[in-house]
Amino acid sequence: MADTSQSTDTAWEYAPAPESREIVRIAAEYGLFVDGEFAPAADGRTFATLNPASEEPLAQVAAAGPADVDRAVRAARAAFDGAWGRMPGRERAKYLYRIARILQERAREFAVLESLDNGKPIRESRDVDIPLAAAHFFYHAGWADKLEYAGFGPAPRPLGVAGQVIPWNFPLLMAAWKLAPALCAGNTCVLKPAETTPLSALLLAEVCQQADLPPGVVNILTGAGGTGAALVAHPGVDKIAFTGSTEVGKEIRAAIAGAGKKLTLELGGKAANVVFDDAPLDQAVEGIVNGIFFNQGHVCCAGSRLLVQEPVAEMVIDRLKQRITTLRLGDPLDKNTDIGAINSRQQLDKIRALSETGEAEGAGRWSPPCELPQRGYWFPPTVFTGVSQSHRIAREEIFGPVLAVLTFRTPHEAVTKANNTPYGLSAGVWTEKGSRILWMAQHLRAGVVWANTYNRFDPASPFGGYRESGFGREGGRHGLEAYLDG
Ligand code: NDP
Repeated sequence: MADTSQSTDTAWEYAPAPESREIVRIAAEYGLFVDGEFAPAADGRTFATLNPASEEPLAQVAAAGPADVDRAVRAARAAFDGAWGRMPGRERAKYLYRIARILQERAREFAVLESLDNGKPIRESRDVDIPLAAAHFFYHAGWADKLEYAGFGPAPRPLGVAGQVIPWNFPLLMAAWKLAPALCAGNTCVLKPAETTPLSALLLAEVCQQADLPPGVVNILTGAGGTGAALVAHPGVDKIAFTGSTEVGKEIRAAIAGAGKKLTLELGGKAANVVFDDAPLDQAVEGIVNGIFFNQGHVCCAGSRLLVQEPVAEMVIDRLKQRITTLRLGDPLDKNTDIGAINSRQQLDKIRALSETGEAEGAGRWSPPCELPQRGYWFPPTVFTGVSQSHRIAREEIFGPVLAVLTFRTPHEAVTKANNTPYGLSAGVWTEKGSRILWMAQHLRAGVVWANTYNRFDPASPFGGYRESGFGREGGRHGLEAYLDG
């Protein structure tokens, strides 16, 4: 059993490959994107965005204050009252389609930038984040001229100005999830990316310019939580869409209560990935690994609780450990890397603190022998066994590469344990029996249930949770509803 506290002993220094700078040009400073143009913040404030794999600053980025929020909301309103608001759906579709095509053309640039700013492995930004972001724009381009036939009434209308606040785990993809349906439905947008990952949203702003999107239709305000709070509170915003922590989601809900703004919240999760004894075990092990180590576990729907049926528990845990030992942690820009950097010092501290409580509460901690780079934010893949439902690591969202393993005997016990959480975002079921999949899907209180797979996303498939995981759906026909006044 490897002791993770020793894994830094043989540390090595990470330095991004020089070619990455040739694929994407990163400016020294970035302004806010308001009314079709980049401009500094009104009060001139900026902040640095870092490469989490090396802690080196990548760029200085404008920090939007209340005056900038006001300017962006006014620009969005003017665009809504002007050309964009009057434009027929078939014309809006062309812009969405153009953005999708440009994202595809510039996919390499986006993938490298995303991995530099976020720390995620290039294999994931290249094969998941960027293609899915383009797919969201393509999908919604297809809907834009068909909204009257989508079941929202004969003449569904857009809501107006959408204020959108997104997290750092899938920066470009979350921007696409927010912007594509809003624009498809005819709204205009003010988007606030997360403080630690602003760069791909700013490159997307360049794409909007390249696609000749009318000024003010998309505005991008970089900044910290205060910028998000000012956007949420602005009286000129008609709809708020938020993805992030349950804590901030609750604050937002309280802040806009009674203001008549529409709201969708996509918040945290503590998903159960349930493995029955008749499951194809090799496939299940791959699904468990993908469920918790994809994107360093910075995934709201991560399968962070493994529930495994007792007769196969030992075998599954053994095979899982063997498989985890083959994972490669390190340079996010290396195509062979499986686990990249943790996005920020703050998130690393949180993962460390919660993992320590796991040990203190008596669970068995295991990580493979794993060299961590000396600089940057890193955490080894970690498995806790002997976890009980009362442990904090089984209840709280860790948002890192940390798996808590629990066991069960019967399907009823699996459901009871899986549902024993205030969250309700996602779940996974591994079994050969179709009837059991359907029974589980019916009884699991989760917005998404994957069967014999995990972490599959498609723009046509609605995604979202309930209870403390939020409300409203993103993607598919259901996702459009949140941006239409039917
Ligand atoms: P937050 O919920 O704080 O951040 C999400 C977004 O909201 C960011 O753009 C953030 O800005 C902004 N924001 C922060 N405070 C406010 C506010 N009062 N009003 C409006 N917007 C605000 O998540 P964190 O990044 O701080 O992560 C904390 C924890 O949240 C993680 O450890 C994880 O457990 C969970 N999380 C869950 C996510 C999910 O998808 N379910 C995504 C991200 C985090 P800024 O970046 O400047 O803070």
